[in-house]
Amino acid sequence: MTRAAVIGAGTMGNGIAHVFAQHGWEVALVDSAPAALEKASATIRSNLERQVKKGVIPADAPAQVLARVKPGTSLEGAAQADLVVEAASENPAVKFSLFEQLDRIARPEAILATNTSSISITEIAAHTGRPDRVIGMHFMNPVPVMQLVEVIRGHATSDATIGAVMETARALGKVPVEVHDYPGFVSNRVLMPMINEAIFCVMEGVATPEAIDTVMKLGMAHPLGPLALADFIGLDVCLAILEVLQRGLGDDKYRACPLLRRMVAAGHLGKKSGRGFYNYLSG
Ligand code: NAD
Repeated sequence: MTRAAVIGAGTMGNGIAHVFAQHGWEVALVDSAPAALEKASATIRSNLERQVKKGVIPADAPAQVLARVKPGTSLEGAAQADLVVEAASENPAVKFSLFEQLDRIARPEAILATNTSSISITEIAAHTGRPDRVIGMHFMNPVPVMQLVEVIRGHATSDATIGAVMETARALGKVPVEVHDYPGFVSNRVLMPMINEAIFCVMEGVATPEAIDTVMKLGMAHPLGPLALADFIGLDVCLAILEVLQRGLGDDKYRACPLLRRMVAAGHLGKKSGRGFYNYLSG
């Protein structure tokens, strides 16, 4: 496999395209919003330049890598791909429609992967005629830096598809871990209850956000405290994932903290909105 298509050129899509192109793949980068494509190309360029400064890649690499990324607004860009990685907005209707279209456009033998954080791989696969070749390929943010790829086996995903995607992730310099398709997979099922509990601690006045994050950083050797991490992920995204866990597993132990709901309602979504548990506005 040497040709990839990445659908969605936002936060994750640009990083996924970057990593594939850096490892020699031809990449069609597709987004319905032309502005997102422009921003993605600029982000890939600046991240490649940072890698040159750090000595991770040679000075002539950025031009070569960028030349392998072909941006476009049409899904037809996926027609020649061996592997499609969908990283469009986290909305079931958007993903179901994309997979119906990709199933028609992509070569019959192509693997269709999704980077979803919380939507069922099995349900996405059911919108195609090739559920054996549909899989979760869950990269972590920022993609060029983070080592893990959570590889999610849907109900009908074949062993051959799992094998090909595990091998691809390793060839991209990542460490793949295979998990089964249950709500939140492993990463968010374990992470989100911890973040939620940290928010309950804030709400109940157990300690300040700074104090809670310091306990987890210095006491548990976490590089980032749970509240700073929640701000980085986006509080709206955390709330949506907790709702998927509560609904999908039918267990109220995943119920979102009322303070999280209140902050999301107030538009305090974390870093992206300038305010969350910390203030990002004053620079
Ligand atoms: P984002 O909002 O930054 O980017 C999504 C992009 O998809 C946008 O540029 C949008 O224009 C595009 N898009 C929407 N509908 C489209 C369509 N029909 N066709 C083509 N493009 C379309 O989102 P993101 O944070 O990059 O997340 C993308 C996916 O990755 C989601 O499924 C999310 O759950 C998952 N994810 C996100 C993170 C994270 O930390 N942000 C981590 C792991 C996984």
